[in-house]
Amino acid sequence: MGYDEFYRQSIEEPERFWGEQARLIHWETPPRKILDASKLPFRQWFVGGTTNLCYNAVDRHLAERGEQLALVAISTETGVTEEITYRVLYREVNRFAGILKGLGVDRGDRVVIYMPNMAEAVYAMLACARIGAIHSVVFGGFAAHNLALRIDDAEPKLLICADAGMRGGKVIPYKPLVDAAMAEAKAPPPHVLIVSRGLDPDLHRVEGRDVDYARLRAEHMNDEVPVEWLESNEPSYLLYTSGTTGKPKGIQRDVGGYAVAMALSIRTVFDIAPGQVMFSTSDVGWAVGHSYNVYGPLIGGATSLLYEGLPTRPDPGIWWRLCEKYRVRTMFSSPTGIRVLKKQDASWLKKADLSSLKWLFLAGEPLDEPTAQWITEGLGVPVIDNYWQTETGWPAITLMPGLELKPVKWGSPGLPAPGYRMKVINEATGEEAAAGEKGVLVFVPPLPPGCLTTVWRDDDRYVNSYFSHFKELLYSSLDWAIRDADGYTNILGRTDDVINVAGHRLGTREIEESVATHASVAEAAVIGMKDELKGQVPVVFATLKQGVTAAPEDVARGMQQAVTDQLGPIARPARIYVVNALPKTRSGKLLRRSLQALVQHTDPGDLSTLDDPNSLDEVRKALERGP
Ligand code: ATP
Ligand code: MG
Repeated sequence: MGYDEFYRQSIEEPERFWGEQARLIHWETPPRKILDASKLPFRQWFVGGTTNLCYNAVDRHLAERGEQLALVAISTETGVTEEITYRVLYREVNRFAGILKGLGVDRGDRVVIYMPNMAEAVYAMLACARIGAIHSVVFGGFAAHNLALRIDDAEPKLLICADAGMRGGKVIPYKPLVDAAMAEAKAPPPHVLIVSRGLDPDLHRVEGRDVDYARLRAEHMNDEVPVEWLESNEPSYLLYTSGTTGKPKGIQRDVGGYAVAMALSIRTVFDIAPGQVMFSTSDVGWAVGHSYNVYGPLIGGATSLLYEGLPTRPDPGIWWRLCEKYRVRTMFSSPTGIRVLKKQDASWLKKADLSSLKWLFLAGEPLDEPTAQWITEGLGVPVIDNYWQTETGWPAITLMPGLELKPVKWGSPGLPAPGYRMKVINEATGEEAAAGEKGVLVFVPPLPPGCLTTVWRDDDRYVNSYFSHFKELLYSSLDWAIRDADGYTNILGRTDDVINVAGHRLGTREIEESVATHASVAEAAVIGMKDELKGQVPVVFATLKQGVTAAPEDVARGMQQAVTDQLGPIARPARIYVVNALPKTRSGKLLRRSLQALVQHTDPGDLSTLDDPNSLDEVRKALERGP
């Protein structure tokens, strides 16, 4: 079946369509009802069905592919690579589940996981899923305060951490951060389970509270822990949004709907069949890491590569050598990751044998055309932009080469994924925008399987954050979009990143893209600055490619020219600052509101998700120096 027919069925006959897709996974008890949409915007998929994520990701494959690699955990930081078969994964997850049970963790209890990309993080997630505990993975390397906030929100029975992470060859001890977070948290869990790689020689253990994974693993070597069958709509895990626009939201996911969405998308979107290899460069702490490093590929019986390290260490060819070595078919990364490589020589893309590689998927941020072009030409494989949110759990706008590859149009992630009934709404009129007209991207409820079921313990926030923006009951993505006559959607940036210059509404992304067409520019961030005359004017912050020797003034003039030529004088940047680094969230998203605050001396809001505080000092200095 082609894409058009597939999508049509998902929208016009949702119960029949999803009833069929449900067969992709194992149900211990089949669902009684495919969809209950009687309490919108809440909805329930596969009502009455019982299943288990761990069973679908591990046990189910033992008979047919027990000796196949399930997970390859590669660390260019520690120099260790672990190749883990489905059988070994099954054993490790059972041991881990035995440890959890031994520490008093039960069905419905929360477990916070604070670890880098290492095999044990995956064991921990799957072990929680096995016993029906709700995991909440917090990106390793978040500051103690962030961790404490998430502990307070989730109220876990257990915290699992690594002794340390590593970045660029430097050890980052996690345990002192954990200790500080435990001290700050209002109701800290009784136990901390430490998975030590021996990276921190000063590792401090709190008597009675801290327990050691290696020791407990030895005690639980032979454990077999039965799978807990959960009703499809029970919570499986919590995951916080990136906090780009404000305080992160605790996204709650279900069991059955998510499993079906994973089984469907790994096959039809990512074109991965059982036995094939997927390499996602995400951290397990993000939505992509959950869905396409862990649950998607494993539910799909594939091999998943998990990578700890920088894309440029030991050299910028590392990712491609891994593709060659493990015969990777589908690679998944972010525009930010590719822009890091773009600062390096393009010849690095040509050194490995990439004959197995079929697709490069990129998500998380707008993919600008120059970057798309650079990487497409460099690798010689189609690059597929895909749009989603922590909330959706899987791509909402994408191409689906596993079903049928529709033409790639640079600048657009493509077409709606199955079950996403999508509209673009004109903000002023509240009506659906015509093709080519800008508006807010919305989904008509019920949201498809896999998407959030609510905000953890905060149904009001679920309704207010997402469903209260229009007269009609619509899920607002809070992103600005435009649709062309073929139904391809372009994402123009966040609704609060729109600049109004003399009555013209410009997306920050449009201007950033245009600035980035300048040959010397690596990356750009655009914000709106108050202006007496025009209301707002665009201000550009840009980083330059390595080895650029031109004078910054000349480059700035060139950028200004590029914007004027491409978007017209209305979009002409009022000021351009060249900086060494741009402020980003830990997940690599531009934190424009922090720039805005520095320029206008206003409150930047919650900056706890900022990756590198030095980047703001950089900007401060640049502002003092003047444009
Ligand atoms: P918060 O919701 O806490 O402000 P966040 O929105 O950055 O943080 P995520 O869920 O990690 O948290 O990111 C989703 C957002 O990322 C989308 O709403 C969109 O703005 C952006 N995004 C993701 N993929 C794409 C893409 N392919 N093209 C353009 N933008 C994208
Ligand atoms: Mg968001």
